[in-house]
Amino acid sequence: MRKKVDHAIGDRIKVVCRLRPFLPNESTEKAVQIDNQSVILQNKGDVGNPMIFKNFTSCYDAQTTQETIFDQDVRPLIDRVFEGYDATIFCYGVTGSGKTYTMEGCKNQPGIIPRVAQFLFETKVATKISTIDITMSYMEILKESVFDMLAGRAKSASLDIREDANRDVFVANLTEKPIHSYEDFEKLFHAACKRRSTANTKLNTRSSRSHAILCLKVTTSTPIDADHQETITGKIHLIDLAGSEDNRKSGNGKARMTESAAINKSLFILGQVVQALNNGSVRVPFRDSKMTRILQPTLVGKALGMMIVNIAPGYNYITDTFNTLNFACRSK
Ligand code: ADP
Ligand code: MG
Repeated sequence: MRKKVDHAIGDRIKVVCRLRPFLPNESTEKAVQIDNQSVILQNKGDVGNPMIFKNFTSCYDAQTTQETIFDQDVRPLIDRVFEGYDATIFCYGVTGSGKTYTMEGCKNQPGIIPRVAQFLFETKVATKISTIDITMSYMEILKESVFDMLAGRAKSASLDIREDANRDVFVANLTEKPIHSYEDFEKLFHAACKRRSTANTKLNTRSSRSHAILCLKVTTSTPIDADHQETITGKIHLIDLAGSEDNRKSGNGKARMTESAAINKSLFILGQVVQALNNGSVRVPFRDSKMTRILQPTLVGKALGMMIVNIAPGYNYITDTFNTLNFACRSK
């Protein structure tokens, strides 16, 4: 069924910033400061002339916990999924800036993905919802090809993007698995992550060159009266984007150059799409990249989103940080 189009514009895709702490063994020369909703970037020796990037929905400093980010910005978004909204969260930034930490986290500091999964199952217990059906799919986009992360080894061919009778876009033959508990989710997700990392090249950089897109489709039924149920469906997309660094400078071979151009192009298109959605533009260039094409149905209509831009604190990242913050400010 085609969804009703919601014409409200403005803060459709919120932009938030997260600064990671210095890592052990990293030089602790600081180039970035967080002040309220702003990021202050200070070049070495350029004491009087900081660059200030303002008006983020939230700006998280290096001490911010995974829990705070979830409670402040993620959970309110996921709450709306139970009203039939689609929610999309992206992590954008260069390799090493904290995207995967923010999305996945680690055992003691779980990130957005495990917290969302846990929250969905807790919500069923805490509310009048009588049934909650959750299905999961997980894909990777590498060089404009789409791969199924839940399919077995035998099915490693890339998938096609098609349109159904309503001209809604979908990924053909993408595995969609039901999950009945948090443990179900964890098992599938870990197996998929393992598959993803063993698919890495000798440089171990596949994960930084591909977009990882986790989709949770949530259908709830809530009793209205003795005989009737209300059924609502919303989709959640949680996306760990490819590293936004410009690989063209690093003297890689021709193959890497083409790939780098594809990554940079798809991130560029994503930025344009977010900008167009936030400005209420009539023309949104969804069709210009695979990722935005796939996400189109969940970015229009009853849709909400958040782009988290991840940045590192040190001088050694200053050019990347500058580029990331510029991207973020254009997207708002
Ligand atoms: P990316 O996915 O953007 O390449 P990672 O998430 O792998 O970056 O982060 C790089 C390193 O920094 C990892 O060792 C990760 O554990 C650490 N890290 C990132 N963000 C934080 C944070 N907020 N707190 C503590 N460690 C972090
Ligand atoms: Mg990563």
